[in-house]
Amino acid sequence: MLVSYSVRGEEPAVVEALKVRALPESSYDKLLEFLRLYRDAVQLIVDRIWSINKKLSRRKLHRLFYSDLVSMGFRAHHAKEIYIYAKSLVDSARSNSGGKPVLRKLSARVDKYDYRLYLDNTTLTLKLHSDYEVKLKLVTSRERIEKFRGWSNYETVVKYEGGEFWVSVYFRRIVKPVKPRTIMSIDLNFDNVTIAVLTSSGRLLRLKRFKTPHRKILTHRIWIERIQRRYPRSWRIIKGVRRAVERHGERMRNISWDYSHKIGDLVAELAVRYYSLIVLEDLNKLKENNKKSKEFNKKLGLWFYRRIQFCIEYEARERGLEVIKINSKGTSSKCPRCGSKLIENENRVLRCKKCGFTGDRDVTATINLYRKYVSKCSRCGVSGVALNAPKPDENPSGMQGKRDDAMTIKQHEPI
Ligand SMILES: [Zn+2]
Repeated sequence: MLVSYSVRGEEPAVVEALKVRALPESSYDKLLEFLRLYRDAVQLIVDRIWSINKKLSRRKLHRLFYSDLVSMGFRAHHAKEIYIYAKSLVDSARSNSGGKPVLRKLSARVDKYDYRLYLDNTTLTLKLHSDYEVKLKLVTSRERIEKFRGWSNYETVVKYEGGEFWVSVYFRRIVKPVKPRTIMSIDLNFDNVTIAVLTSSGRLLRLKRFKTPHRKILTHRIWIERIQRRYPRSWRIIKGVRRAVERHGERMRNISWDYSHKIGDLVAELAVRYYSLIVLEDLNKLKENNKKSKEFNKKLGLWFYRRIQFCIEYEARERGLEVIKINSKGTSSKCPRCGSKLIENENRVLRCKKCGFTGDRDVTATINLYRKYVSKCSRCGVSGVALNAPKPDENPSGMQGKRDDAMTIKQHEPI
């Protein structure tokens, strides 16, 4: 799980949680006791905030509840976590015009001052109420935890669920933002992912195409549908049939995750080399009647494209690169030179009747996406590349000449 954010005045950071099962090294009575006490304390504060029915500042919360919580045996930071959490529960219940929250689950949020994590022997010590301490062995592999060396951890959530203890340790890493010097626009298609790197003045620096495993995934889906059609009612019940469906589903998931991770990594590495700001198409803005949306849905649905984008964004942000999503309306149907409607010839080649432009459909889409970004951010002065954007009538040099560069560098590089 990743949340990437940049709060105003704060450096951009990546946040990731490590959720693992934890085994108390001695008896776990005290930990269970702590979790119960914690839950009851949160409930108590929830009840009191609920009855006050007024806006409460942090300071007010502290004045009202701190000493009571401490006298129950909680440490200073426990107390703070409890009243802040209780208030957030009340706030969200009120904003959803729901009833007073009632807590059942055993879960506690522990501040970074109240636990210590030892990566070397994968243990965590928690400071509990009344000066008790518990040592937990985390059930995880070394590799999984090794990743977080050098990250800072700031909060841990401890849970008791189904007879087991679970901890989620939240890690945070500041990423040094890369100042973009070029723009990389990416067009996702059924057969390929097309990538163009351009300078802010429109010179094409790099064009790359990766094949997608869409067809393979589609085959598995067709198999699933075929089985379900053949056993419309019984496929869930007959064990062998259900297994077959599950196996195809699993293959689809594996292929798509493997591919998405790989492409996310490759794209981000390429973007690092060119100091690129990455421009993706905004999949939420694909209209129902849009040609591309239709094509996506007919074949596979949008989930796989979302997954690819997710991985690209994840890998890019981890490297301090900026990612922007742009409405791709018209990017595969308008002439990048004169703005007229393009006609599709055979082999995915687009042609403009008005100015004679011809170009590969996917390459044209990346150029158009790039142009859309440039015109958008030069108008409203959004962050990004120091722009001397091409004038409306000026073409990206990649598109000049009868056969533009984009057409001559035809790279089909499968990964
Ligand atoms: Zn044209």
